Amino acid sequence: MRSVGRRLCALGALVAALALALYVPRAGSPLPECPPELDCRFVPAAYAQTDPADPDTYGNYDVADRPADGNDIRYIVVHNTEVNYDRAIELFRNPRKGAAAHYLVRSSDGQVTQFIPTKDVAFHAGNYWFNTHSIGVEHEGLLAEGDRWYTDAMYRASARLVRYLAARYHIPLDREHILGHDELPGLTGKRTAGMHYDPGPYWDWARYFQLLGAPLPATPATRGTPSVLTIAPSFPANSPPLSACAGNNCADQPDQGSNAVPLRAAPADDAPLVGDTLLHPDGAPGTDKLSDWSARAVAGQSFAVARRHGEWTGIWFGGRLTWLRDPRSQVSVMGDPSGPLLTPRPGRATIPVYGAAAPEAGAYPEGVPAGAITPLGYTIPAGQVYLGVRRVRSSDYHARFAADQNPDGNRRVAGDRELWQISFNHRRVFVDAADVTVASPGSGPRGWAPPGWAPAGWAPPAIRLAGPPPARPDV
Ligand SMILES: [Zn+2]
Repeated sequence: MRSVGRRLCALGALVAALALALYVPRAGSPLPECPPELDCRFVPAAYAQTDPADPDTYGNYDVADRPADGNDIRYIVVHNTEVNYDRAIELFRNPRKGAAAHYLVRSSDGQVTQFIPTKDVAFHAGNYWFNTHSIGVEHEGLLAEGDRWYTDAMYRASARLVRYLAARYHIPLDREHILGHDELPGLTGKRTAGMHYDPGPYWDWARYFQLLGAPLPATPATRGTPSVLTIAPSFPANSPPLSACAGNNCADQPDQGSNAVPLRAAPADDAPLVGDTLLHPDGAPGTDKLSDWSARAVAGQSFAVARRHGEWTGIWFGGRLTWLRDPRSQVSVMGDPSGPLLTPRPGRATIPVYGAAAPEAGAYPEGVPAGAITPLGYTIPAGQVYLGVRRVRSSDYHARFAADQNPDGNRRVAGDRELWQISFNHRRVFVDAADVTVASPGSGPRGWAPPGWAPAGWAPPAIRLAGPPPARPDV
């Protein structure tokens, strides 16, 4: 049985050899769901039980009837394979892998192969709640060699596909709904620490959103009180130090355009990189390893501004004050928030964060086991502010293997609990709506001043509580 209490890995960096139990496709494969101008085909992923004694052991997806069954499709998740196109197809056709995406895009020419109908729940995100609400799009290539694998043909075909899917399922074309696999949390803290980090720092989000017809913010707000910073480096010119490691052997990455901006614990070039408390529970700083996403903000992510200090801007990131150096707005732009700025409700010293919008235990009908609501282990202290992007009503989906591919035996659980999706650190998380209130930036200086406008030590106006968030969820 699958639910938010269970997890399956996506393909991601899986390259371990497994005996390939070839899946025999059913007759009459469906037509691909693609815009007509794409070179697109359908090759069915494996859907088979892999332990004859255990009907709950199977791959590589769950049959469903999205969105008619109540499981709305609200995210596209961008992946890369770490193996070549043909090998990825083999893996998705092997039920023992337990993972497959809906689509795969070829590097050389942008050919698209669909494996799983979009109505079904592919095991691609490493987080079953996100699987339930997303479509997974894999891209052939190695993330450490993004400039070689992420080709113009690939970006164009993928963007055309995502535009088609977004229009069909009413998915907003923004960086809170078109997400990298590396931007998703796990369902627990331990799983979050092990989550994949594809498509990585060399995926050109700015170019991708240009092709989607929804360019990322590139110019500062010209009026109002800029209270939110959006990461916006020039991709070709941005090449922060990064290293690739095999065991203890690490080598500097060659220069190539990057979406990533490093974050430090203090406003100084020699200050340590911020360490993520799940990746570095001993309190060690972050590193420049490709696999260490502790201190890496990504193009298109938005955070509340907390301080200015000379050429440095302080943002709330991962439950702490974190600094990025941006002397001439080269790597970020400030503007007005696209949603409410949320802060812990008065009287709460800290609040927990979650990896899914899971229902309260009482929402589960008899016979359907409740998924545990487990905080991730991060906390948000009182006084910190995060951008709320979507108020979500909690839900879960309990599915079982159905040899006849009929989803009627599956159960969707809708809870009364509501949560906000927030931009938290490198990854998005959820906070309980009952734990937060809306923070207003207050009456700050009117109008936008050029970079360097703020005196050292400038802080935005004191947070003023503006009452509870809107009651109506947008799902
Ligand atoms: Zn992935």
